Amino acid sequence: MAESDTTRQRLFRYLRTERRNYVIGVVALLVTNVCTAGIPYLTKLIFDALEAAEGTGADASSNPVGLLALGIVGLAAGLAVFRTLSRVFIFNGGRRVEYALRNDVYRHMQTLSPAFFGRLSVGDLVSRTTNDITAMRLLGGPGVLNLANTALVYAAAVVPMLLLNASLTGWAVAPLVLIFATARGVGPQIYRRSFEAQTHLSRVSALANESITGIGVVQAYGREHHRQGVFARASEDYRKAYLQFVLFRSVLLPILAGMGGLGTLTILYFGGSAVIEGTMSLGDLVAFLGYLAMLMWPTVALGWMISLWQRGRAAMDRLGEILDTEPEVTEPEVDEPPPMRGALRIEDLSFAYADDEPVLHGINLELEAGQQLLLVGPSGAGKSTLVSLLPHLSAVPRGQILVDERDLNDWPLTTLRRRVAFVPQEPFLFSMTVAENVAFGLEEAAPEAVQRAAGLASLTGDIARFPRGFETPVGERGVTLSGGQRQRMTIARAAALEPAIWVFDDCLSSVDAATEQTIIRNLRGMTANATAIFVTHRLLGFEGVDRIAVMEGGRITETGTHKELLAANGWYARLYRRQKLDRELAEEGAA
Ligand code: ADP
Repeated sequence: MAESDTTRQRLFRYLRTERRNYVIGVVALLVTNVCTAGIPYLTKLIFDALEAAEGTGADASSNPVGLLALGIVGLAAGLAVFRTLSRVFIFNGGRRVEYALRNDVYRHMQTLSPAFFGRLSVGDLVSRTTNDITAMRLLGGPGVLNLANTALVYAAAVVPMLLLNASLTGWAVAPLVLIFATARGVGPQIYRRSFEAQTHLSRVSALANESITGIGVVQAYGREHHRQGVFARASEDYRKAYLQFVLFRSVLLPILAGMGGLGTLTILYFGGSAVIEGTMSLGDLVAFLGYLAMLMWPTVALGWMISLWQRGRAAMDRLGEILDTEPEVTEPEVDEPPPMRGALRIEDLSFAYADDEPVLHGINLELEAGQQLLLVGPSGAGKSTLVSLLPHLSAVPRGQILVDERDLNDWPLTTLRRRVAFVPQEPFLFSMTVAENVAFGLEEAAPEAVQRAAGLASLTGDIARFPRGFETPVGERGVTLSGGQRQRMTIARAAALEPAIWVFDDCLSSVDAATEQTIIRNLRGMTANATAIFVTHRLLGFEGVDRIAVMEGGRITETGTHKELLAANGWYARLYRRQKLDRELAEEGAA
């Protein structure tokens, strides 16, 4: 995958926000390098002084060697201090880039639609928001440090080298050209391999996530071995991909180190000859070799740095896939509407998931505020799809859904979602206390409101039996609760909102028949003053609703009251009679 312009721009935009830290860090690096460069120079002066004093029998007290040695100690101390400072500021910059990026990615993800989360798995997203962001931190910290350091060390060493001996300097830096050529050639390879390795890691993460979430199913079906095999293969792919990446990186290191060594050898040969011929002092040669040694580490680190930058760019590309996904639904710029009454009008609504075939065709439905609708139909008919559009999580074309005669697209999202309570088919609870889960949709909730909501969902008795009542923590996803309790918790969560429109998406499947009838009675009572849509397979108990609609194959095929639909003798009438008969038989059996 090629790096796009926006990836590069985005990368530098993040780095630029930490300008201050980087500038201070680079200045500290500069001082560090000046101190480092001063040491060979003072060493040269010591050698020169020793050479000059040799045989002259000069007085040791006038000899500057002691002072020069003290100077070296001073430079070493300065080196330690500024080296530390440079790392503190630059690494801090990297950490802050990581922090900002992580928050941006998380914030952006929260605005994306179900379609996005259907495309990328949880494990993949977790991997991107952890491993890839770590790669960006390494780029923003050690990557920046080494880049600046290499440039500074070269500047700090090459200038005095030039002053000492221009032609020798030419020999010393000649291998650099080769080094840059190698780096340019290998860089894209490292980028590609890094991208691949990161993708494989995502796959491993996705598999691990799925296996842990579905551990119950894996064990119940005795498929541990099979899953282990799948996981081991993905791990192996990752290992291979990562080794490929490391291989390229490790090929770079010895090449770069070898080229550095080549420089030293050349200098020893030409410099040594010059000293023998007397055209260069021994002190100059020692200093020169000292500078050359200074270049050694940054040159070797260049390989590591190239891999850090390439890995960071690949990571930014993968994060860009999240950041560049436009939210399907955005906050409209509209005035706050008057309080929602709950009238609903659906006009010729059609809907398709992404590029798939449409699953809803020309739906028309009208509910006055306070009316109750029973929405039934065979599985796969599109009932869930239809009701999931009401909280406006996916894009809905203008003019097709109107709440209080106001287009869904003109409702501020928070207002809409605060007034339309959606109770999903799959109950999802957070690892928080019972009270916190019930009050989830509210900024603040009085304990009485939470208790009332729990009461409406027939949870009071269950909660009284929990060890710490409302303060009992539910395990991750509420595993400590029964399926029915979880479903009723999600009903209580919706009840706490005191919404204008209720949507129950087949949310009583795990509740036993007796409790179900109690809850349906409760629900019908508690929603008496609000608009309510009940999607369910069980028809008994809903005879008194204002309207019943039957959906089949994405279309509404029957609509009317209970009486009208019984008279029409269609899908509804058949299912209703069967369920009624089932119940009567069960009651007779029990009697
Ligand atoms: P029902 O609630 O009546 O059982 P659904 O609304 O769940 O029906 O599904 C209607 C159709 O939409 C089905 O064919 C289903 O396969 C398809 N569908 C549901 N959810 C998605 C999705 N996230 N992506 C693609 N297709 C989907």
